[in-house]
Amino acid sequence: MRQSMIRKTVDQLRVVPNLTDYEGERSRFSWAEARSELEDLPRGGFNIAHNAVTRHARGPLRDHVAFRFLSGDSASTLTYGDLEAATNRFANVLAGLGVGRDDVVFVLAGRIPELYLAVLGSLKNGTLVSPLFAAFGPDPIATRMNLGSGTVLVTTTELYERKVAPIRSQVPSLRHVLIVPEAGEPLPAGTSDLTALMAASSDSFDIVATRPQDPALLHFTSGTTGMPKGAVHVHEAVVTHWSTGKYALDLHHDDVYWCTADPGWVTGISYGLIAPLVHGVTSVVDESDFDPERWYGILADQQVSVWYTAPTAIRMLMKAGAELATARPLPDLRLIASVGEPLNPEAVWWGQEVLGLPIHDNWWQTETGGIMIGNTPAFDIKPGSMGRPLPGVEAAIAVRTDDGGIRLLGDATEGELVLRKGWPSMFRGYLNNPDRYAACFVGDWYFTGDLAERDSDGYFWFVGRADDLIKSAGHLIGPFEVESVLMSHPAVAEAGVIGKPDEVAGQVVKAFVSLRQGFTADDALRMDILAHARRKLGATVAPKEVAFLDTLPRTRSGKIMRRLLRARELGLPEGDTSTLEGGGS
Ligand code: ATP
Ligand code: MG
Repeated sequence: MRQSMIRKTVDQLRVVPNLTDYEGERSRFSWAEARSELEDLPRGGFNIAHNAVTRHARGPLRDHVAFRFLSGDSASTLTYGDLEAATNRFANVLAGLGVGRDDVVFVLAGRIPELYLAVLGSLKNGTLVSPLFAAFGPDPIATRMNLGSGTVLVTTTELYERKVAPIRSQVPSLRHVLIVPEAGEPLPAGTSDLTALMAASSDSFDIVATRPQDPALLHFTSGTTGMPKGAVHVHEAVVTHWSTGKYALDLHHDDVYWCTADPGWVTGISYGLIAPLVHGVTSVVDESDFDPERWYGILADQQVSVWYTAPTAIRMLMKAGAELATARPLPDLRLIASVGEPLNPEAVWWGQEVLGLPIHDNWWQTETGGIMIGNTPAFDIKPGSMGRPLPGVEAAIAVRTDDGGIRLLGDATEGELVLRKGWPSMFRGYLNNPDRYAACFVGDWYFTGDLAERDSDGYFWFVGRADDLIKSAGHLIGPFEVESVLMSHPAVAEAGVIGKPDEVAGQVVKAFVSLRQGFTADDALRMDILAHARRKLGATVAPKEVAFLDTLPRTRSGKIMRRLLRARELGLPEGDTSTLEGGGS
């Protein structure tokens, strides 16, 4: 197990972190107390949008900027007061259409202000809302809207015409399509003009008296391991968003915060919308796609202090080179965090060495609704580890027993990562799939489907997804460790490994890699990478084969799809590819 550490002391940090005493805070913490930091509705009930927006709009943060929306070279801002008025207008539009608590609103849009208004306005109206990733093609859109029995869709003229019109007749539940029109373009037939409806609506609204356990958000998983699942989250999830925004993202009032995740995925809502607003900070939202130069420009020009991003983005920034990374100083940046897939130690060190800040990996899933395990500003980082469970989270390593029970395992033993039920943002169901939901739980414990190990300091180390584990000559091999070693070779930018059937060993490890700029894929390099892996991992665990790819197949949320590498290698059907990056849109 890797042992080198990035040591931290509080006096090295520019801002005193919210969490300084990890053990103490964990033992003092209770969800009830965390909940009491947030507000009930004035006439009873509990609602995410009240805590994210209304509470601030009625207090000293009224004129504080909540969002800075960047689009090309232009920018617009919304204060907490503006956000309150605009989301009230949206809620009034829904109410005026007779849309209520039995409805489901889907939002299909790029990172434009209306998307955020629609999500918050739906929450105010007590209506379950589900943002969809705008790059989905017509079929995945129809599948998801049908799974959720969507009754309202908020989208743009362009997306409607290209992706929704062709499948609208296949979604019989859809009653209203609200369009953010493009100037001068006629409205498509059978749709309504959202901008006009909002302008004609009142900017005051009494938030519907939702209960803490009422459904609020529907998020689809990334489809990395199979058909995406719809996870239902409730209003009290905001308590987790608040506590994790405090501990893992270390949000302070004067922060400028940038979450690069798209709101079509859970990260883009839990941490691109809810957590920053609950903490009353200013968030940057960029409409454009990833571009290294643009991203460094945003960090510098917007004076971003806390940056939440993903391993895939970090790998691409690494690929783009250190020169670009250091071309402009980033004096305001004080915390970088990442989620989505394993963050190789190489990437953590790159942050430390090139940007002067380590990257704080944290672990969670669509199902957990919020960060569960993380590296925080105040404790030492062991690069390659996901960190430690945050206050309020009880994590363990376990196996299912043959009689349907659970056996907890000790330190330094590989097993499935499990979480004790009771954190507020736990999903409350897989849409239309109660059996699959029930199968995730044994007694008080939720089985995550991820394999991990805990060390004697309480740090958790990701091993791989249960589905991706490789069994070779009697050994269980986690892909993460192998991929991390491959990435430590100077030529390797990205790596994905799979188990390939083998008559003798059962399976052998096959690696797929893409190269950094300036390297040529040839046999000499292949041999060099194989030798490097064998030296570091030993012959049993090291890949037997290395194949070069220009890029690895990834989900649209940036995760390497090992199941596709496997299917393509073995000539098997590819299964659901609705979330494959570069797939039909
Ligand atoms: P699906 O469930 O549809 O196959 P998915 O699991 O990729 O897709 P998400 O909920 O978006 O969908 O991703 C959560 C998963 O991502 C985790 O279960 C884990 O496998 C992986 N993951 C997230 N963060 C980390 C991390 N820091 N280290 C390792 N793995 C991570
Ligand atoms: Mg999953």
